[in-house]
Amino acid sequence: MNIRYSVIAPIFNEIESLPELHRRVKEVMDGLDGTWELVLVDDGSSDGSSERICELAREDKHVRPVILARNFGHQIAVTAGWDYARGDAVIIIDADLQDPPEVIPDLIAKWQEGYEVVYAVRAEREGESWFKKITASLFYRVIFRITDVKIPVDTGDFRLMDRKVVDVLKTMRERHRFPRGMSAWVGFRQAGVPYKRAARYAGTTKYPLKKMLKLALNAITGFSYFPLQVATYFGFVSAGLAIVAIPVVAVLRLVGSQFFGGQATTLIAVLFLGGVQLISLGVLGEYIGRLYDEAKGRPLYIVRQAPEK
Ligand code: UDP
Ligand code: MG
Repeated sequence: MNIRYSVIAPIFNEIESLPELHRRVKEVMDGLDGTWELVLVDDGSSDGSSERICELAREDKHVRPVILARNFGHQIAVTAGWDYARGDAVIIIDADLQDPPEVIPDLIAKWQEGYEVVYAVRAEREGESWFKKITASLFYRVIFRITDVKIPVDTGDFRLMDRKVVDVLKTMRERHRFPRGMSAWVGFRQAGVPYKRAARYAGTTKYPLKKMLKLALNAITGFSYFPLQVATYFGFVSAGLAIVAIPVVAVLRLVGSQFFGGQATTLIAVLFLGGVQLISLGVLGEYIGRLYDEAKGRPLYIVRQAPEK
């Protein structure tokens, strides 16, 4: 069957939002010109969301249920969505209705102008704590500065991508993923559409601080060597300092000054450099662990139940 639009929503314990998500997506998509499907990827929910998704699929043939075998994380669930989506244009949306489905026609309008990636830019955010807003804002700006790809600031995964882009992304099977970085990396013609990010429809965030930090690490390590290079810069700076310090201390000693005497200075220098070395080792470890994960070559996700691809 030829499908024009695929809407992908990753679901992790969103049973309360599901019917409303389906209703609003259906309302918007039925008003458009082409055929559509709603790919609901259940990411190992334990609240009955998977049963609800299968029920929706029985009631409405637009719904394409993909049930993963356990919780693999938001990014992997989105990837499973890419694999199962059949549309000429693929739209990723959050299940909690923070990304209003009513913005989809704006994304489609830009796509029809010829843009292959149309990302939604969060002009305003509603109903989120100041902590989340500040950390998110900082995150986007740090990532923008240190990564090699220019990932647009204040954009989430809410975006439309052309079939060409999705086919390229499907070949990128890296384990520690940052989908919005990946979709910037591929190039093509990209444009942004501003929107107002709403408050969660129901339930609580499935992104606690720990998961946000993990995502930030994926983004940084996946798109930059900067943390590895920091150790080199530090090495040069401390070696430079030592080269300057050695003659200075020698001369001070010769003229009888005790300025650099005492254990405290030695201890501080040793502790400081020891700390820097351990942190650098940790950074190396982070990259090596990722290499190890890639080397194992396990499947990105395991499907419990899904239609034919
Ligand atoms: N999600 C998921 N797997 C996870 C965590 C989240 O599929 O392990 C889904 C979640 O159901 C939602 C989307 O990812 O549709 C975004 O999550 P959330 O709204 O909790 O993040 P926030 O908007 O608070 O950053
Ligand atoms: Mg949300």
